[in-house]
Amino acid sequence: MKELVVISGKGGTGKTSLTASFAALARKAVLADCDVDAADLHLILQPEVRRRESFVSGREAVIREADCAGCGRCAALCRFEAISAVARDSDGARVFRIDSAACEGCGVCTWNCPAKAIDFPERTCGEWFVSATRHGPMVHARLAPGAENSGKLVALVREQARETARQSKRDLVLVDGPPGTGCPVIAAVTNANAILVVTEPTVSGFHDLSRVLQLAAHFRIPAAVCVNKWDIHPDMADRIEDQARSAGAVPVGRVRYGPEATDAQRRKLAVVEAGNSPLADDIRVVWQNWLDSTAESGEKESR
Ligand code: SF4
Ligand code: SF4
Repeated sequence: MKELVVISGKGGTGKTSLTASFAALARKAVLADCDVDAADLHLILQPEVRRRESFVSGREAVIREADCAGCGRCAALCRFEAISAVARDSDGARVFRIDSAACEGCGVCTWNCPAKAIDFPERTCGEWFVSATRHGPMVHARLAPGAENSGKLVALVREQARETARQSKRDLVLVDGPPGTGCPVIAAVTNANAILVVTEPTVSGFHDLSRVLQLAAHFRIPAAVCVNKWDIHPDMADRIEDQARSAGAVPVGRVRYGPEATDAQRRKLAVVEAGNSPLADDIRVVWQNWLDSTAESGEKESR
């Protein structure tokens, strides 16, 4: 089974739009939307949810007010300033409450409460889904507002996508990864067979690409690069491809700027589904070149 991951140095480069087209072009793929902080592949692929699960990660402290003696020890010890006195009860004792958004789940207050009045339940941080789409099964997720641990959720989505592929006898997992170079991206690319970095021909695209390619080199993952909207700055597109080559990555093609991308999104279609266009042809070439480059790197590895 192959796991191919599409990432970008920052959001808004057209990564998800390209991934949706790759999903349409792939045969027997399972799709994984690992951009869990800003998932939007579902807007194009319109998944029908078949399985829904809670994403539980870490714990949060909750005071049982009936058992609290109002001593204030927990508030004094909490280094995240998550606990404060919010009122006084009828006996004049202070009533303490925990701001769940500020609680980091360290557990210090629960261990040190003399009245043992603080519960420490597991925290539900979001949901994940296994769905059906017109291009195959898709695993995706929704992180709760303000929730952290997106790296763990990314790892979970990938694992479930691989499991879905095993069960449905599909030999490809196509991942829409998160942007940037932080923890969620590392969770999305670790042990993947190959990554494709989608970038734009801008100064920030140039610099972001260098950081992403360093990450790929660190984890020894074969990297390919696609310059999206290359024709808005052809000289910069040249520089980006030169930079990719010198970092050991393979430029697998350029995608031009065109209104077909927005038009397809408005119709909830991938560009390659929305009719023939030069833009769709560019995407087909990038997909085929990327597949060919992953086959070559696989052959080198097996030698
Ligand atoms: S340490 Fe325990 S008893 Fe004291 S204020 Fe906090 S919850 Fe209440
Ligand atoms: S678990 Fe830690 S962060 Fe949360 S309220 Fe208690 S001391 Fe503060």
